[in-house]
Amino acid sequence: MAGTENTRFPESGMAPDTAYQLIHDETMLDGNSRLNLATFVGTWMDDAADKLYAESYDKNMIDKDEYPRTAAIEERAWRLIADLWNAPDAKAAIGTSTIGSSEACMLGGLALKRNWQHARRDAGKPADKPNLVMSSAVQVCWEKFCNYWDVEMRLVPLTEEHKVLDGHDLERYVDENTIGVVAIMGVTYTGMYEPVAQIAAALDEIQAKSGLDIPIHVDGASGAMIAPFLQPDLVWDFRLERVHSISTSGHKYGLVYPGVGWVIWRDEQRLPEDLVFRVSYLGGDMPTFALNFSRPGAQILLQYYLFLRLGRAGYTVVQRGAQDVAHFLAKGIQGTGAFDLWNDGSDIPVFAWRLKAGHTSNWNLYHLSERLRMRGWLVPAYPMPDNLGDLTVQRVVVRQGLSMDLARDLLADIVTETASLDALKSPMPMEDVHPTFHH
Ligand SMILES: *Cc1c(COP(=O)(O)O)cnc(C)c1O
Repeated sequence: MAGTENTRFPESGMAPDTAYQLIHDETMLDGNSRLNLATFVGTWMDDAADKLYAESYDKNMIDKDEYPRTAAIEERAWRLIADLWNAPDAKAAIGTSTIGSSEACMLGGLALKRNWQHARRDAGKPADKPNLVMSSAVQVCWEKFCNYWDVEMRLVPLTEEHKVLDGHDLERYVDENTIGVVAIMGVTYTGMYEPVAQIAAALDEIQAKSGLDIPIHVDGASGAMIAPFLQPDLVWDFRLERVHSISTSGHKYGLVYPGVGWVIWRDEQRLPEDLVFRVSYLGGDMPTFALNFSRPGAQILLQYYLFLRLGRAGYTVVQRGAQDVAHFLAKGIQGTGAFDLWNDGSDIPVFAWRLKAGHTSNWNLYHLSERLRMRGWLVPAYPMPDNLGDLTVQRVVVRQGLSMDLARDLLADIVTETASLDALKSPMPMEDVHPTFHH
């Protein structure tokens, strides 16, 4: 009845208990989210948050007139984030909640494109061939952005020497049609930060030589909620003039259930007025510029709840706990002798490793991933992008909820499975192993 073969819209209904049980039973076969070390997205909140969620899951964020207090809390929340990201004047900043980083990145990209078009038209120059420069390890939302809004995507390839976009040779990628550069705080493939200050310095040099003034959007989907707490002295945010906008996922290291992201511009001038719509709000009007119209308001309340509940000190404790676990696992995995770490979780609590060159030709990381899956763990293996495509890595995302105890169990399983693969006398079948994971 409930299988995928069932494609006919049901003629009649059924009792709520029966429908509930059908869906409940079918989803029992889903994985255990606590053992999913592939995802960045939060899967746990405390009881008070759950209570707040249950009280507010019917609120529609767009109904600002009906839910003026929720609207006020949304604004308060993004202003707090502007402060967290060192906006020079949090009152001059402008921002919004979104459904996640994908929507937030679209808005950041759209503002870059529109600002560039205005400047080009004002200068009497053509504005029909925009391009956006970014690392080849960008998340798929940037490919979507470039595809949906007709922007040429200029990818700077990763290499062994340049493991992230770091500003090298940037002048070969930018020109008068470049609407901006995307810098990623927490590259999805590996968890590494891109050195935003170094990228900004490279763009300063380009401006000094060519006059091109190219802004940066920071995609801080995960790192923008880690760096303020674990690396407060790292300069990556609005302290850099060139950073016009920053986005993050509230549902990743913002620690909220799936369904919230944020994007902030350093001041209102960076968000072109013609992208802003007005909705009625308490008899007056309120600017909106999200892509979605109706969407849940509850997640925004949950984000604000966490800001109050945790504060800087609490977020620091939670994120440091995750980082301690990441360091423990990275060290243990390196200790097996079979692997080389790509990074060790010192940026966001995410790290990747590869098989040591020459270690074995009997098995690869896909086999290890499969074996861990049989033990309940989801630890994806996948190829690195583009010209590093021959390189397979495996990655762990440490989130709140992966306790040190669970991490010890995971490490023990990795050690056992690695030893048993190493004991093979002949190669594992190589044909049918492939990545099951998408960024
Ligand atoms: C996860 C991620 C995104 C997309 O975020 P969603 O909240 O899932 O829409 C974009 N960029 C980076 C770097 C990410 O890690």
